[in-house]
Amino acid sequence: MVKSKQVFQILEKFYRNVDLWKEVKEEMRGFKGFREKDFASPFSNLVITILSQNTNAKNTARAYLNLLKKVGSITPENILKLSERELSEAIKVGGLYRIKARRIMLLAQKIVEEYGGSVNELIVKGDPRRTRERLLALPGVGAKTADVFLAYCMKCGEIPIDRHITRITKRIGIVSRKANYDEIKRELKKGIKRKDRVRFHELLIRFGKDICRARNPLCENCPLNAHCSWERAQAGIRTRDCGSTGRHVTWLRHLGH
Ligand code: SF4
Repeated sequence: MVKSKQVFQILEKFYRNVDLWKEVKEEMRGFKGFREKDFASPFSNLVITILSQNTNAKNTARAYLNLLKKVGSITPENILKLSERELSEAIKVGGLYRIKARRIMLLAQKIVEEYGGSVNELIVKGDPRRTRERLLALPGVGAKTADVFLAYCMKCGEIPIDRHITRITKRIGIVSRKANYDEIKRELKKGIKRKDRVRFHELLIRFGKDICRARNPLCENCPLNAHCSWERAQAGIRTRDCGSTGRHVTWLRHLGH
C-alpha cells in the first residue's frame, strides 16, 4: 500500500513549477481592496470556507470579492449591518447563497454574542484540540472548516479533508473505501512534516481538479498510476475486456473443458 509521504513527494515534483492558486489569483487581480493576508484573518477565513462549500475556487473568490466590495471590511459587525437578503445578493455567484447567507449571519451573531466580535477570543493558545471543539460549536462550521482554520490561521499542522482528497485517498488506496473523515486525516498526516501539511493539502486539491477528477480521471497521464489500486483494478477490467482470463475461462467451459 502506498504511503502518504510517497504521494507527497511525487506530487511535489509533478507540480514543482505550477502556481496552485492560479484561478483565485486571476480573479483577485485588479481588485484593489483585496489583500492576500485576508485569507489568514480568522473571521474572513471562516467566511471564505463557508462560501467555498459546494462550489469551485473561482466562484468562491468572486463571492468573497462581492461581499468585500459591499461591506469594505469583513467583520462580524459589518456582516450584521446587512439584511440577510443583501448578504444573499452579494454572495449569489457562489451558489447555495441563501443557505450560506444564513450560516454567515448566524456565525457573525454568535461571534459577537459569545466572543465580543473577535474570533481570536475563541482560540485557546497552545491547545488546538480545545480550539477545534469551540470552532465546531459555531453555526455553519463542520470538521473541514474547523481544520482549514487550524491549518491556515493557527498553523498547527492540520490537513483539512475535502471531497477531492477523500476521492483520491480512497482510489489510490491510502485508506479503505469506508474510511471516515478522521481516518483519512490520520493516515495522510503520517510521515508528513508539520510544515509541509498545508502544501500537501493544496497539492492534493490541485491534483483532484487536474488529473484524478471525479469523472474521467486521466489515469494514463497520472504520476501516481504505478502506485494506485484503483488504476490496477481498472487495468484488470481492461485486460479481461480484451478477451483474456474471464472470457477465456467461459469459452473453455463452453467447449466442455
Ligand atoms: S491512476 Fe487514476 S485513479 Fe489513480 S490516482 Fe491517478 S488519476 Fe487517480
